[in-house]
Amino acid sequence: MTKLRGGEGILAQDQKDYVTLRLLVCPGYLSADQLRALADVAEKEGRGSIIITTRKGIQVPWIKFERAKEISAKLEMIGLPPGSCGRKVRAVVACAGTERCPFALFDIDALCSKITQKYYGRMTPTKFKTAVAGCPNSCSNPYINDFGIIGSETPRLIEDSCIRCGSCERLCRGDAITTIEDGLPVIDFDKCIHCGWCITNCPSGAMVADKCGFSITVGGKSGRIPALGLKVVDNVTEEELFKVLDNTFKYFDKFAEGRERIGKIIARRGLDHFKSEVLKDIKVQ
Ligand code: SF4
Ligand code: SF4
Ligand code: SF4
Repeated sequence: MTKLRGGEGILAQDQKDYVTLRLLVCPGYLSADQLRALADVAEKEGRGSIIITTRKGIQVPWIKFERAKEISAKLEMIGLPPGSCGRKVRAVVACAGTERCPFALFDIDALCSKITQKYYGRMTPTKFKTAVAGCPNSCSNPYINDFGIIGSETPRLIEDSCIRCGSCERLCRGDAITTIEDGLPVIDFDKCIHCGWCITNCPSGAMVADKCGFSITVGGKSGRIPALGLKVVDNVTEEELFKVLDNTFKYFDKFAEGRERIGKIIARRGLDHFKSEVLKDIKVQ
């Protein structure tokens, strides 16, 4: 693995002389060997406990400060680099969908790894959190991250292939489908949440993917004053997604006042201003 630099990953504890090690787990899997090594570190160097964080990271508390760097270097050798702290791009959180979830619309782990390789640890005006979800079920909470990525699929009906079974209307996640008198489904695209479920479940292949890609949300956060991210665009390609991400970092660097999160800039300058800056290189669908 390319060496990932998120920072030292050493967090101060209330207790003088002790620190907690924060480790990156990307895209969210720990091997049995890594777990054994972590258990050894926790027993020999800490107090036998390990913390699993909300961002799928691992923390090992009660490490003597003077031992922290050496232990951290050893854990990096087994694929557990230091976690990101402070004014930087933090760990990207991926949902669990890639291999096992029937709803997954793309390879979530691969995208999470690519984003991590490209941006992890980049300096930003203040912390920047990203989450990747394989479908609009949004299990990794993209709407409460600074940058949310959600797999999206937009359906199109091929009327001649439709056997008028009504499955799509029954299964539609967004109540976006109604059937007209002759049994043909009609999609209300104002309600469609781009989950692709009608496409997956159509028995005759009449519902097809017209557009697919990623929806992007921006400006979400948890914390003391939580906020939901705002939808920026649907169905961008992976190449366009990375352009939007690049432009978002430029926007953040250029317009942040002090240590405000990106959602605060957007609240101050407006979503249209943000879109005009970050979508300028891509064709909006
Ligand atoms: S967000 Fe979608 S793809 Fe990911 S785990 Fe949840 S249901 Fe599955
Ligand atoms: S599920 Fe497919 S075949 Fe059935 S009504 Fe919908 S589009 Fe037609
Ligand atoms: S993509 Fe999802 S929300 Fe949109 S019409 Fe199909 S099932 Fe309904």
